[in-house]
Amino acid sequence: MVVKLNQILGKPKKKLGRPGEPKGKPRKTIKPTVTPRRRWLEVRTARRPHRTGVMLVGWGGNNGTTLTAALLANRAGLRWETKEGERRADWLGSLTQSSTLRLGQDADGRDVWVPLADVVPLLRPDDLEVDGWDISGLDLAAAARRNRVLDVEVQRALEPELRRLRPRAAAFDCGFVAANQQERADHVLGGTRAQQVRQLREDIRDFKQGKSLDQVVVLWTANTERFADLRPGLNDTADNLLAAIERDESEVASSTLYAVAAILEGTLLDDFVNYFRYVQCTFINGSPQNTLVPGCLELAERHGTHVVGDDLKTGQTKLKSVLVDFLVGAGIKPTSIVSYNHLGNNDGKNLSAPHTFRSKEVGNPQHGLRILAVVSPSVVSAHVPDPLPLLAPAQITKRNVVDDVVESNSILYGPGERPDHVVVIKYVPYVGDSKRAMDEYSAEILFGGRQTFVVHNTCEDSLLAAPLLLDLVVLAEFCTRVGFRDAAAGPAEEYVPFHSVLALLSYLVKAPMVPRGPVVNSLFRQRTCIENMLRACVGLGPDSNMQLEHKLA
Ligand code: NAD
Repeated sequence: MVVKLNQILGKPKKKLGRPGEPKGKPRKTIKPTVTPRRRWLEVRTARRPHRTGVMLVGWGGNNGTTLTAALLANRAGLRWETKEGERRADWLGSLTQSSTLRLGQDADGRDVWVPLADVVPLLRPDDLEVDGWDISGLDLAAAARRNRVLDVEVQRALEPELRRLRPRAAAFDCGFVAANQQERADHVLGGTRAQQVRQLREDIRDFKQGKSLDQVVVLWTANTERFADLRPGLNDTADNLLAAIERDESEVASSTLYAVAAILEGTLLDDFVNYFRYVQCTFINGSPQNTLVPGCLELAERHGTHVVGDDLKTGQTKLKSVLVDFLVGAGIKPTSIVSYNHLGNNDGKNLSAPHTFRSKEVGNPQHGLRILAVVSPSVVSAHVPDPLPLLAPAQITKRNVVDDVVESNSILYGPGERPDHVVVIKYVPYVGDSKRAMDEYSAEILFGGRQTFVVHNTCEDSLLAAPLLLDLVVLAEFCTRVGFRDAAAGPAEEYVPFHSVLALLSYLVKAPMVPRGPVVNSLFRQRTCIENMLRACVGLGPDSNMQLEHKLA
């Protein structure tokens, strides 16, 4: 059946202008043709989660120690006294552990909500093993003390266990981070880049064997690096990247070495219990730099290894995508978004150098420019050449975290038009991990009116990030157990796994990498995607929210 949209909607009587558009400028007429097709897919999900371990790059950092403490505290059912009374370990802020999904309705028409983690068997946090690397040799108890994120009672209770955990020596090139990070770099691997990759691979294998794991997720939660130069012959293809590592090319970032090590360890394995083939290693980039250079992506595809990028989506960006989605969906036109941040943790200290700050502001040039204006940071502490001029201008596509929302409404925005979007980040040591984010949203309403929202958000950054790290690992493991095939193709047809670039995890990252098709930044669409995927795995259709059973006469 072919449906012509303009047959249903009727032809517009006269051409309308957009709000604020000069009179007489014609509005683009949209005449899509919709052709509904029916295709049955078989979705197969192995029910038993793999024995999984996470290796945190930057284990001794704020996020690394906080996630580790949360895993230990939850496993032990830790309770501790605070000035507000007793507190118990939990996973607040975790999509997989603390949120629910609407399954449907019971016989009386009441909504039935179930924990998201109960729809399909997901990896339990208590079963997750943890290990990692850091440039600082401090054990995790000392690192947690230095980081000043955890309540002192929690630190005391977990001290014996945290003290036993010591990061492995890290691959590190100070040229990619702020010079001020050198002070803590007492635990780094020597040798060439090729030797470092070999050692990192050895570490992954050692962890896997030591804990009898099926699968490892390598998760970069170390400092934001500057962009690596993208150059033909250097990192444009898998073979060129591997050759560049062998030549010990200085423009290969440490984060890319971890990614390559993980990808090379991610060979496919047959799971005879579940009759499944799965990849044994996944790499996730929790920071904004362009770790996953084109050669890295090609290598991942070659090995069938999953990769996820880029940058954790914790507080401010999440709220931004929700607010702009709401405004644009309501037919209100956001015209300016201005964000000020100040934070005083080591992440902030590292971002106080212009070249790393640039990564945070601009984002991975493979996704395009996320932020319109650049405001320089308060402290300038390193003298590394600015990497941006090295990028081919075509790689900078001036897209940002609200782009898809803006582009979804051609009534509000003309071609190429988007709100002004400015971000300022300042390093203020006193506030520590308690990040301040102040956002001003301006929007146009009826009769040229203006609506302005001001949002002030104070929050411990790492307490938002740790549950997200867990979700990334839990969902990444889940993705290795799912396969699809055309139901009409017959039993001889192989199940196709997810593409090696895992777009399903877009909800959790600021600048989602997708293998093809548009990037979705809208938080609700990203969440719905996860919900519907879980539903599909148990043979339920997507939640249409029509609720026709209550609406018909
Ligand atoms: P942090 O500075 O406390 O921790 C980073 C750790 O990485 C440090 O312990 C450092 O010694 C280590 N490190 C640096 N280079 C390394 C290397 N090459 N190998 C191994 N270890 C290395 O920072 P954080 O607050 O934990 O944040 C970590 C990353 O997550 C940052 O890039 C930050 O921008 C990003 N991020 C954090 C949040 C959040 O809400 N906390 C949100 C989005 C992104």
